[in-house]
This record gives sequence, C-alpha cells and structure tokens, in this order.
Amino acid sequence: MSLTERDKKYIWHPLKQHQTHPDSLGIVKAKGCILTDENGNEYIDAISSWYTCMFGHCNDYIINKVHHQMQQLDQIMFSDFTHPPAVELSEKLINILPENQAKIFFNDNGSTSVEAAIKMVLQYYFNRGDKRTVFVAFENGFHGDTFGAMSTSGLSVYNGPFEEFLMDVKRIPTPNGVNHTDILQQLEKITAENKVAAFIYEPLVQGAAGMKIHSIEGLNEILSFCKSKSIITIADEVMTGFGKTGRNFASDYMVTKPDIICLSKALTGGMVPMGITSCTQDIYEAFLSSDISKGFFHCHTYAANPIACAASIASIELLESKEIQQNIKKISDAHELFSERIKKHSKVNSTRQIGVILAIDIDTNMERYGALRDILLKSFMKEGVFLRPLGNTIYIQVPYVIDMVLLEKVYNTIEKVLDIL
Ligand SMILES: *Cc1c(COP(=O)(O)O)cnc(C)c1O
Repeated sequence: MSLTERDKKYIWHPLKQHQTHPDSLGIVKAKGCILTDENGNEYIDAISSWYTCMFGHCNDYIINKVHHQMQQLDQIMFSDFTHPPAVELSEKLINILPENQAKIFFNDNGSTSVEAAIKMVLQYYFNRGDKRTVFVAFENGFHGDTFGAMSTSGLSVYNGPFEEFLMDVKRIPTPNGVNHTDILQQLEKITAENKVAAFIYEPLVQGAAGMKIHSIEGLNEILSFCKSKSIITIADEVMTGFGKTGRNFASDYMVTKPDIICLSKALTGGMVPMGITSCTQDIYEAFLSSDISKGFFHCHTYAANPIACAASIASIELLESKEIQQNIKKISDAHELFSERIKKHSKVNSTRQIGVILAIDIDTNMERYGALRDILLKSFMKEGVFLRPLGNTIYIQVPYVIDMVLLEKVYNTIEKVLDIL
C-alpha cells in the first residue's frame, strides 16, 4: 500500500479539509532544492518548504554540526542548566540582530515565539504596575495559530471559530506609500481611546497574506510614532528573518528598531523546529526583582534544545558566508529580470519583489483553498515544481543554494502554466 493510502487511516493533517482533499503526497527524500516522492518523481522546492530550508534540504554543513552535537548532548532542561550551543547561538544572534537587542529567550516554533512576546509585553506592564492590554496589529497579518498569536492575526480563514475567545486587538492598514498620514491618525485615535500595550507587525512583508509588501518609510513612521507613545514594538520576523529580504532581517531596513523580535522558520535552516524571542535590555530589566513571581515563568520543555541550537549556529554561519550572500544577490537580480518579463503576461495583474521573495498576482478571483488553486498547484507539480499559490498570488522563495538553471525552470513553469490557465 502506498504512503498516501496508509496515511489516510490514522493521520489528521493541518490546514486540510479531509472530506474534499483526502490525499497527501508521500515525500521520501529531499536534497538541496529537490523533493522526491514515493513514486520517484522529483520536484523543485520553490517555496523552501514554507521558507525554512533556505540553505537547501539536508545541507551537509548543518548535518555535520547536528551530528556532532547529537553525540555530545541531546537534550537538557533549560530552566537550571545552560550548554555550549545555547551560549554560542546567543552570541552569534546578538551579533547579527539589530543593535538594540540584548537578550535571547528560547521557544520551540514560530507561534510560541510570538506567544512569548505577547506574554512578555503583558507582564512587562503588569510588573511595572501599569496595566495595558490592548494590542495593535496590521490588517491581514499572520502571527501563528496559538491563542495570543491567533488574536493578533487578521486572516479569518484561520480564526473564525475562535473569535469570541481572542484578545482585544485593534487593526490598522499596512502603509502603501500614500496613506501614512491616514494610518497615523487612526493610530492616534486608538492610542487616545485605549491603553495600548504593543504594536505587532510582520516587517515589510506579510507572508501568509500573499507576500504583500509595504512601504519602508510608512513602517518607519508607524514605529517612530509607537516609540513616541512608549508603545512596545514587536517585529514578527519568523518569515522575513535570515536574509529573505536581502538583508539579514527586514528590521535592518528600519531606522526605528523593534523592542522585541520573533524568529523561527529559517532559524535552523529547516533541520529541526525552534523559535526565539529576543528583546531589549529595558524589557528584560522589568522582570528583575527580589520578588520571584516577577520573573518570566514561561517555558517549553524543549526550549534551547542543543541539537536545534547546533542547527541554528550552522545556519547562521552559512548565512554569513560570502557564497550565500552572493547567491541572495544573484537570486534577487534574477527575480527582477523575470518580474519584468512576467508582468507582460496577459494573465498577470502585477508583481512585487524584495530580496529573494517574488510574488505574482494573477488576473483571476481565486479562493484561498478553492478549486482553481488546486488546479494550479497540480499543474505546477505535474511540471516538477512545488509552488503553493496563496489566494490569487503565486510566490517564489527558493533556497539560497539554487542552481540558476533550476530557477529558470521555475520561471518557465510559471509562464507555461499561466499560458494554459
Ligand atoms: C509561519 C509564521 C508564524 C508561525 O510559525 P509556526 O512555526 O508555524 O507556528 C508566525 N509568524 C509568521 C510571520 C509566520 O510566517
């Protein structure tokens, strides 16, 4: 029996309506940019498996570091112990994060990195005896699927049934280059009427919303407004972190740096799960007290798992290498050229790009999980390319190690599939 058949017996998949979509394709191998299914078919992973394995699947450099770590120390509680990979990783991260980041808190995925950030903010004000509980977030943002993260997310496909249990979150539009004053006025009003604790945002690119890119100056103005009102800013860099936008972090484009940063996805190069919430010295100091209960009593059992830390150290070393930095530039340049080419296609409405992220809006009204989206996904797979449209957006986020011939094949496949659409 095939994996697809055996899978159906016991497995409940995420983001899936099993009644209409019972099948899941069995993938048995991944190396570099290529996925191999159980029938031996190969696919280019053009979205880096949800933008995680940016250094290619089963990257030998990461494997070696992880293998070595596995033979030294596998898992240890992080509440009373520390260990070399956690210490080394914290040093490496502080070295590349925006200069105001001072402390590294470990979680185990993207949602929990956001969840920890939200709890940090709430307790920061609680500890200071200044109760503030309202959050501000962008419309259509995505911050994860746990309750705090879900509250701050604005994508209704995910949140609908849980709405009445969510936190109080006010939403503002993303800055598009002409509406900054309007947004700042909305923010003024929200701040005047509520005790705003924090503003959480995906810096420059809203991933799950369809790789929507907003204006650098606009975001800067919002962040500087928040600073002026002592509103904590949380940059959710779970998707944008580690080179995607052409800089190590999207926050590197900003004049005003966030107080808290959430990291996951490419943090470990896709090898194992891990999340990190970093923060400024000011946030950290609000938890220092002779009163034990003012500490941050939030912990995940696998926090700072040594193997995950080793994978992350290896990933950051790769990110900093000349070769990867050059590849990021090469992919961005190639995207720019392809963007000009595909813009002229009759089925294409518009394109947008930053760093290695390229999004193409097609001229149809496609539901997020509708029939046309399934046809597109299947057509791409038939051509040997794994692309996963979001609404009527097709986006590319290939691993940094991709060969230019393979990247051209991704481009050609998009053109070919759009031709027959
Ligand atoms: C994926 C994602 C998350 C959630 O991360 P998980 O590891 O899936 O829980 C949060 N924020 C952003 C911006 C993301 O892209």
